[in-house]
Amino acid sequence: MARPPFPRNVREFQHQFATEEACQLYLAACRWPEGFRCPRCGHQRAYAIVTHRRWECAACRYQVSLTAGTILHNTKTPLTLWFWAAYLMTTDKRGVSALLLQRQLGLRRYETAWMMLHKLRRAMVNAAREPLHGDVEVDDTWIGGPQPGIKGSRQLKDRLAVPILVAVERRDDRSGRIRMVVLPNFTAMTMVAIFKEHIAPGSTVYTDGLGGFAGLHAAGYRHIALKQPRRSALRKGATSVVPLADRAIGNLQHWLIGTYHGVSRAQLQVYLDEFVFRHTRRKPPMAAFQTLLGLGTGHTPTPYRRIRGGRDILKPADG
Ligand SMILES: [Zn+2]
Repeated sequence: MARPPFPRNVREFQHQFATEEACQLYLAACRWPEGFRCPRCGHQRAYAIVTHRRWECAACRYQVSLTAGTILHNTKTPLTLWFWAAYLMTTDKRGVSALLLQRQLGLRRYETAWMMLHKLRRAMVNAAREPLHGDVEVDDTWIGGPQPGIKGSRQLKDRLAVPILVAVERRDDRSGRIRMVVLPNFTAMTMVAIFKEHIAPGSTVYTDGLGGFAGLHAAGYRHIALKQPRRSALRKGATSVVPLADRAIGNLQHWLIGTYHGVSRAQLQVYLDEFVFRHTRRKPPMAAFQTLLGLGTGHTPTPYRRIRGGRDILKPADG
């Protein structure tokens, strides 16, 4: 069985993935691009058990789940709806809110749309991704508006806004890959740990003169800290010392406001991941679609009770 061609437009999509059976056939084709092969006895013929989303080996009766290892595992939601949601997420440049998805798919419950989107978002981080390298601009910023009574750029206590770190690869004055990470605090230890996870040692890191960027030299980075012009000067056209990071931050803020109208602290990292996924996606739509459904990424499914409040985000395995 060859991997089926990916639909070129909405009408083809509707035609190709019109039924639960058709979606299951697609999952089977992704799982066995060379055709079915029983993992127990090696036999090459199987029967589909559509009600259980499994295939059963015609020789030894061994049953293989079509959704195991994907975000679709154990979901009661029809696969046709999942496929639509993943399609809308990959084809809409700005992203889809739960309310819009609920309307577009005609879902009765808002929670269903919300849960589907969050599962799809969790599939957006490739756990095996390579760290950034070469020339990398790094800057930090706050997500969330100003607040009366809060002074100083490093005060965390009682603050509603959330600090994030943004890193952008410089490729001939253009942005390469991007990382965005919620900062739990500003200690040098935290910073170095985040750097080590996302930027390869030996890279040249550009920051503005401020910030808790001490300790980067010792951690193996070439650190170039430049003095950032004042905000008023920047507004009048002075050049930022980290222009690509600044632009990424501007785009992020614009996107968060335009698409999601503010995001809770617990969920922010997931939205940062979505932004980065959209920014760095140079893949054809089929690859993005498959990534979102978790086909071939080895993602373990996230139960709903753990998604609520973002409790699973802190798990190192999700990084
Ligand atoms: Zn078998």
